[in-house]
Amino acid sequence: MELWLTEQQTDHVGLTCRVKETLFTGKSPYQDIAVVDSAEFGRMLVLDGVFQTSVFDEFVYHEMIAHVPLLTHPNPRQVLVIGGGDGGTIREVVKHPAVVQAEMVEIDGLVVEVSKKYLPEISEALLQENPKVRLKIGDGIQHMKEAQNKYDVIIVDCSDPIGPGEGLFTPEFYQDVYKALKEDGLFVQQTESPFYHQPLLRRLFSDIRDLFPITRTYLASIPLYPGGLHCFTLGSKHYDPLQGEVPVLPFSTRYYNRDVHRSCFALPTFIQDLLK
Ligand code: SAM
Repeated sequence: MELWLTEQQTDHVGLTCRVKETLFTGKSPYQDIAVVDSAEFGRMLVLDGVFQTSVFDEFVYHEMIAHVPLLTHPNPRQVLVIGGGDGGTIREVVKHPAVVQAEMVEIDGLVVEVSKKYLPEISEALLQENPKVRLKIGDGIQHMKEAQNKYDVIIVDCSDPIGPGEGLFTPEFYQDVYKALKEDGLFVQQTESPFYHQPLLRRLFSDIRDLFPITRTYLASIPLYPGGLHCFTLGSKHYDPLQGEVPVLPFSTRYYNRDVHRSCFALPTFIQDLLK
């Protein structure tokens, strides 16, 4: 018997994958968690029925959410990841020689445990005793309220704006992020699909621009996510990703490179119009 799994991406559109094997299903206090081995995407993490990451295309998302901000800041020593329980973002963060400490605040300890067991190639930085990594199981919204002038770069690697992630998409949260950053700090957040989440993207961009003098949205192609084209939005107090030389990466990547660092900010007209 063939098993197919569908993520309902909008009221009218879904992405359906053929599943070879269901590896884990469970429930935490925050969400339903599943890991399946799919024919096209390989092993995938699914939270509340929403595809989060897959071994097939995770490199795009994790490289782009980490390397664009970390190479925009000239000396990112203190870095915070909010969410990111699969470990892919922190894996990329610790590759940067300048990073002294990479904190991760994930609300759901079960996501971390399941990722360590079933997605070891993504969660590798959480599996090894990496002296740079500090993992806290807790609410990123609360963590932001308590931090002040502490981080060079904050990366919000969150799920969709429903459930525990809802408060990560509010002006109050961005004010706390601003306060938690050092005076030349910057942050980035995944800001969903430019096709299917236009009102959300417009609101988030406007909320971030109200606080940060430099606000820029950039794009990456991610087949697992709705519409296949995904947005990230960067808010910076001082450094502009479009100014100055892009540093050379001292390690290899599969999606990110110095050309992509610039070209990802080239927005099609419909997105430029949306963000005006
Ligand atoms: N790459 C993914 C995507 O865009 O779909 C996001 C992956 S990561 C698994 C998202 C994580 O954010 C989840 O593990 C979820 O538990 C976590 N999360 C949601 N709300 C949170 C909060 N308030 N504080 C900390 N982590 C949160």
